[in-house]
Amino acid sequence: MLPLVLATCLIAFENPAAPPPPGAVILLGAPGAGKGTQAEQLVKRYGIPSISSGDILRDQVKRGTDLGRLADPIMRAGQLVPDKVLNPMIEERLSRPDCARGLVLDGYPRTVAQAQALDAMLQKKGLPARVFLLEVPREALFKRLTGRRTCPVCKRNYNIYFVPPKKEGVCDDDGAALVQRPDDREEVIRERLATFEKQTQPVIEYYSRQRRLIALNGDQAPEKVFEDLVAKLPPTR
Ligand code: AMP
Repeated sequence: MLPLVLATCLIAFENPAAPPPPGAVILLGAPGAGKGTQAEQLVKRYGIPSISSGDILRDQVKRGTDLGRLADPIMRAGQLVPDKVLNPMIEERLSRPDCARGLVLDGYPRTVAQAQALDAMLQKKGLPARVFLLEVPREALFKRLTGRRTCPVCKRNYNIYFVPPKKEGVCDDDGAALVQRPDDREEVIRERLATFEKQTQPVIEYYSRQRRLIALNGDQAPEKVFEDLVAKLPPTR
């Protein structure tokens, strides 16, 4: 986690002209909808940290912590890690100083209980929240996820269909062998998409009922999605 915090601080430090942060930006969308890509752009533009519940959990799994050992089989099966485990972890992350003025949430909340817990956490911090839904048709999601490959060294992302490396299976930048996330295998993807439809759809309804949901067309070039997203953020002073 420390390198992530440092990297975020450096981004903010390197970009003193960054516009004032827009509060909490919550990105909702199915796996593969492009939440991570949009989060990266928000980090660059506003110098705020991006908090990805999936990345935090993967880090715990890699380090073999108690939480990681609990989460690993659940993630491999494409199911959701229990709220009672995840909510305190997110609350702790939100309490760190780098989140004081704004943050991006990618992959959280995914259940109504998480959305309610998050509302309470942000209220306590006095941070306003904007909720975006990235809408992408199911067939496009499937191709994005089955084609996704990552460089384990520099973390650069590829897609064998849309953004292939110059040489098959090898990172253009450092020559490392590209890897596929264990939960990006076809059978797990089906389960993840089903889990999204079953458990996260109510979250979309939760925000929609409160008229807080801003839907974006996620089935366009990432730069265009970002343009649409920024246009819906409140003007910063
Ligand atoms: P992601 O990288 O966001 O697709 O997350 C990968 C996996 O981590 C998911 O399939 C879940 O098993 C777990 N996970 C991530 N975020 C959450 C969340 N908010 N609630 C429960 N489980 C989560």
